[in-house]
Amino acid sequence: MITSHMNGYVQEDSGPGISLGLGQTKTHRERAVDCPDDESSLAKFPPSNTQMERIQHYQEELRKRREEDGRTKHNIDPSASLRLKKLSQNPKVGIDNPTFDGKEKASATDDTISQDPVADLEELVDALTWVQRCLSDSQSQQDVELILQLLAQEDFKSAYNIYSAVSQQMSRISPTSATTAQAEEICQEVQKMLLSSQQRDGSELRNLLTNPHLQAHDSVAMQEMELENVTQYGGETVKLVRLEKTRDTPLGATVRNDMDSVVVSRVVKGGAAERSGLLSEGDEILEINGIPIRGKNVNDVHDLLQEMHGTLTFLLIPSSQTKASTHRQTVMHVRAYFDYDPSDDPFVPCRELGLSFQKGDILHVISQDDPNWWQAYRDGDEDNQPLAGLIPGKSFQHQRETLKKTLTDRNREQQGKHWYGKKNKKQRKKNASNFSRNTDSDDILTYEEMALYHQPANRKRPIALLGPPNSGQDEVRRRLLSFEPDKFAVAVPHTTRSPRVHERNGREYHFASRSSFETDLAAGKFIESGEYEKNLYGTSTDSVRHVINSGRICVLCLHTRSLQVLRTSNLKPYIIFIAPPSQERLRTLLAAEGKSTKPEELKDVIEKAREMEQNFGHLFDVTVVNMDPDTAFHELYRLIDKLDTEPQWVPTSWLC
Ligand code: 5GP
Repeated sequence: MITSHMNGYVQEDSGPGISLGLGQTKTHRERAVDCPDDESSLAKFPPSNTQMERIQHYQEELRKRREEDGRTKHNIDPSASLRLKKLSQNPKVGIDNPTFDGKEKASATDDTISQDPVADLEELVDALTWVQRCLSDSQSQQDVELILQLLAQEDFKSAYNIYSAVSQQMSRISPTSATTAQAEEICQEVQKMLLSSQQRDGSELRNLLTNPHLQAHDSVAMQEMELENVTQYGGETVKLVRLEKTRDTPLGATVRNDMDSVVVSRVVKGGAAERSGLLSEGDEILEINGIPIRGKNVNDVHDLLQEMHGTLTFLLIPSSQTKASTHRQTVMHVRAYFDYDPSDDPFVPCRELGLSFQKGDILHVISQDDPNWWQAYRDGDEDNQPLAGLIPGKSFQHQRETLKKTLTDRNREQQGKHWYGKKNKKQRKKNASNFSRNTDSDDILTYEEMALYHQPANRKRPIALLGPPNSGQDEVRRRLLSFEPDKFAVAVPHTTRSPRVHERNGREYHFASRSSFETDLAAGKFIESGEYEKNLYGTSTDSVRHVINSGRICVLCLHTRSLQVLRTSNLKPYIIFIAPPSQERLRTLLAAEGKSTKPEELKDVIEKAREMEQNFGHLFDVTVVNMDPDTAFHELYRLIDKLDTEPQWVPTSWLC
């Protein structure tokens, strides 16, 4: 798909976030023309009158130039279109004649292989007889006679018939795409090397390589019909590219206007353009299937390409910028920490190509060529979504969110001034410190790089259950522990209170002095802690590690404030959020436990759960809605079992 942009005449590419807040127009610089779910109407903003005038002016100029001189530098003469058409109908022209600028090449299209081998042979015999008659010296006449005798032999005739039949068959079944220029080059190179070879095999190979029916094909398995010829045309180096556009494989490219030129702006991974490697960013499109493109507005190019299917032949001026090949780029996997909807983003360069995602989604970033707009697939979409989508790059997203925050804060500050009048020095200072805290980079969540991790059989990941009080996580934990006590265990907590008679150090609690507890707490050795009746209680990372080392699964019930330290603890927790059901269902569940609750209390549980999801949802591996304790328990058990059978996404920082 080729994308296009509507207002390239007036708008230069802006740097990250620069246009934010500057009364940005909601136009797009690029345009996709054959997206599977084309939302082109969304992205289509008609050019302004001035732009239209300029376009018409360029088109008029172009038409005049064509009339005046059909062969000048950038011009494509009308017959070029015919040649292109011929070329697309008869790929042999491209194969046999890599250049197509000379008149003599046109005859190549008329070259045909005779369908009748007998007639061919007879013609050859006639020609040789004629040559023999013309020759004056007897030696040469004898030589020709020898050849004529050979041709007259029945064995030779049958061999020739077989050869002709095979040749015809080959020409029929050979791919319609051209032999690549690269293969020809290699072939010629080998031939040169073989010239000096004295060996029999060498000369045999040379004969084979000079056989006119030998065709080399770079990629036999390629589904798309692709052709690339680089040649001189009217003083310009132009490139002829043929691609197959199908419903399943869109072209996957965007175009923009650059003055009167239409230029390939972006090649999207997974499309025919990218797969072929023949269209590059910066290539100027001169013609598509013989239709002149220069002078057209990108919207027209979009409309034109919408109508075209099958083989598309592009005549291009290759980009002068040679870009480093990105084919072997490594894929980066990230977890999104924000929701993104391209239809709501005025800055996405091509809305149709934007990829929407939600907080917590895993995205496979396959190209960061454009640091502002990465190309990615959503996890699970790769197989049914051929084209990658555009997502904001990490720094770009960070920058624009920072800018957004700054502007919001400024607005708030201004509104504050408006309402409360002039502030004193102290108030201003306070606002300034809030301002810098709000724009602190930690406040802005973008993406976190992830990797797949499969827990070893002898080191199971701890399960951290989270949820508002009364959503059922304590109950689920109890059931897990009693269901399989050999499999699941709790971490023995620490306390500063004295042991009771039946208690043993290290079984019910690790009993510690207040000072040692406080030292460990300050050293960050506790995942969570609290005070109860003047005694300190807490769960240490060492206690959790002890359970892991014993081969059992440590089950923790935690508060969200423990998440940060848990994530940096190297314990690789699997975080499950236990969400409450609807208010009515929650009331029934609690009533079954003998708890009577007021509507406000139920509302409070649900509101707390919403807040937790809002603020920490991106850190949850999975959410289980507690519709009823049995179902929730079985679902939880299934998820925990899955950790043994399937690798899971974890932050790459955990694996360093
Ligand atoms: P007890 O001293 O009766 O064993 O426990 C009293 C209370 O201490 C418990 O009800 C609980 O609230 C708190 N507690 C027990 N273990 C822990 C722990 O590991 N962390 C925290 N924060 N509190 C605990």
